[in-house]
Parts: sequence; C-alpha cells; structure tokens
Amino acid sequence: MGTIYEKIQEMIYPGRCPVCDDAVGYGRGLICGECSEDLKPITEPYCMKCGKPVRNEAFRMCRECSTKADTYEYVRGRALYEYDGALKDSLYRFKYGGRREYARFYAERMANVMGEQIIGWKPQALIPIPVHRSRLRQRGYNQAAVLAKELSKIISVPVREDILIRSEKTRVQKELSADERRNNLKKALKIAHFDVKLKNIVLIDDIYTTGSTINAAASCLRDAGADNIYYAVIGAAVND
Ligand SMILES: [Zn+2]
Ligand SMILES: [Zn+2]
Repeated sequence: MGTIYEKIQEMIYPGRCPVCDDAVGYGRGLICGECSEDLKPITEPYCMKCGKPVRNEAFRMCRECSTKADTYEYVRGRALYEYDGALKDSLYRFKYGGRREYARFYAERMANVMGEQIIGWKPQALIPIPVHRSRLRQRGYNQAAVLAKELSKIISVPVREDILIRSEKTRVQKELSADERRNNLKKALKIAHFDVKLKNIVLIDDIYTTGSTINAAASCLRDAGADNIYYAVIGAAVND
C-alpha cells in the first residue's frame, strides 16, 4: 500500500508508535511489538448492536443495548479496542497532540479486523464525525477525518466530508442526560449537502462512549434520506 512518495516520507520521517510514541524504525511496522500487547482488542463475543464486549456469551447484546437498542438511530457498529489504559493516552495524543500519523496504524487494524464486514454493509461513503471549524483551527485537523481517509485508501470506500458539518460548538455535557445530550448534539450538526445516492453510510470516529454523538449524526443523516447508518471506531468505553 502507498505511493513511492509515501514510502520516501516514511524513510525520512519514521512513524511514531501509537502506544509509547517512540519512532518505529523504517520497515518495522507501525507499532512496537511489545506495545501492541498493551492494547486490548475487542474479540467475540461482542455486542451485535454497539460492538462493545459482552462478558457472557449467551447474550447477543450488551446490557445497555438490550434495553435501549430500539431507540438507536444506527443499525450497528464495531470497535477495535477497549477504551482504557494505553489506548486512552494514545487517542488523547491522536486528537490533541498533533499525532495524526497514528491514523495509519489504526486504519490498518480496522481494515484487517472489520474491513470485510464494513464492505459487506455496502456503504457509498465513510463520513467522519465533524468538528467545529474553530476546533479545527486549534488542532490543525479532525482526527476522525484523518482516520477515515487512511481507511478509505485500504478499503476503497470514498470519504465524504461535505455532507455532515458541525455548525455550533457543543459545551461540556457531562451534567446532561443521554437524551438531552443527543438533542443538543443534533442541533449542533447540520447536513450541508445531501446526495440521494447515499443509502448506506459508515460513520467514522475515534471513540464510542455513550453513543450520543453517533446517534445524533445518524439521526441527521436519516432525516436527510439515508437508509442505514453504521459506524466504525477505534475505541469503545466498556461498561458491562
Ligand atoms: Zn511503542
Ligand atoms: Zn451494545
């Protein structure tokens, strides 16, 4: 994968390991061997709806989804890793610390672990969860968009950043209930332009926690005319 230009770039600027943040030597992969053991992959059994681990194999859904799944706006989603420990630190640097290069490692893992399933959803587009333009100015990039673009190179599903935009900044919402949070977020998101050919969409984000963001985005896209919304994220907060 990758053009000659990208290969030369990689020789001059070896990527940093997403876990320890040291440079990984050229040709030695995208993560240190030892560091990859610090991440906790989500393997079966996982929730059929939200993709979080399910501790008891007899259940097809996590506890939360088994009571709330029919209020969700998306069909289903997948997550690569449990969101704690080493992954928390890594995703913090990925989002706020200028480490956009981590996207290559995470996109490659996503393609390996869930690429086939994503393609099976027959998506016309990958849509990254947008950030407000003032945040974009502060951070220099939207980590979800960088991730979507790297994934797109591997699985050949186009990224559309022109569909869903964030028109308002959302304030810290910890004190709000899940419903209030979803409504607040929905107000902050806007469809800038909709393409009627978009029937199946995969939302891309770094983390899935309560699902408010994904549900608000899915709700906007369904209101605009999309049929099936899925998602793929790097980390999922585990609550079971
Ligand atoms: Zn490392
Ligand atoms: Zn679930």
